[in-house]
Amino acid sequence: MRLAGKTAIVTGGGSGFGAGIVKKFVAEGARVLIADIDVAAATKVAGQYDAIPLAVDVSKMESWEALAIAAKAAFGQVDILVNNAGITHLPQPMQDVEEDEFDRILAVNAKSVYLSAKTIVPMMIAAGSGVILNVASTAGVSPRPNLNWYNASKGWMITATKTMAVELAPKGIRVNAINPVAGETPLLQSFMGQDTPEIRAKFISTIPLGRFSTPEDMGNAACFLCSDEASMITGVAMEVDGGRCI
Ligand code: NAD
Repeated sequence: MRLAGKTAIVTGGGSGFGAGIVKKFVAEGARVLIADIDVAAATKVAGQYDAIPLAVDVSKMESWEALAIAAKAAFGQVDILVNNAGITHLPQPMQDVEEDEFDRILAVNAKSVYLSAKTIVPMMIAAGSGVILNVASTAGVSPRPNLNWYNASKGWMITATKTMAVELAPKGIRVNAINPVAGETPLLQSFMGQDTPEIRAKFISTIPLGRFSTPEDMGNAACFLCSDEASMITGVAMEVDGGRCI
């Protein structure tokens, strides 16, 4: 029960890594609010793990304002925020990604962190404590071709994590990121373009530990970084990548 008594918001908790983080957090004693644009998915995961679902579009200020009100009503205080919701474009030359898709990726992957700073961070500052975990990517550290705008959004997130960490440390708030390698989630197919045994083998050949990451891997890493065991750790962007970035 490493998160006993803690309250947490997990964005994008209706699927993939987010659902793995929700499962682990609940198992370790946290009360969790799942903020997902797909409210049916959030409701399903919430039902499995005894969490609270809420329809939230993390790219929209009004959605974050509603989330802050809902979290305050449910929990009184937010101890942990996991900015996990994210999207990508399909692998393609950088000049072929349409402007509206670029805008959407930056709004969901990057602007969402800014909006969380406007709405949730003030609650943490008032409490004098809090933990934020941003789910970035190995793509932000060791980018592959044809995913440029997705990669760049994750690089943005890593820099934001470090600045937030140093700026919020005096307020008692820790801010870290995790950098997952390609993982077994519905998003994987979008990164691969096509889901074939050959493309899977190509991806896995770049991961020294020889497998894709899993929602359980992210749940375990997130739990550690958001728990009091990591009370001296802030501003890290921790690879959870089977050695991919070495
Ligand atoms: P996923 O598609 O399985 O889950 C993403 C969840 O986010 C979904 O439930 C979706 O409904 C929700 N979401 C999407 N847009 C949203 C919005 N605007 N507002 C609220 N919720 C929204 O994806 P995943 O693979 O679990 O990805 C989770 C995070 O991990 C993302 O930030 C992704 O970039 C990152 N990541 C994934 C991989 C991978 O290979 N799967 C690798 C590195 C990093």
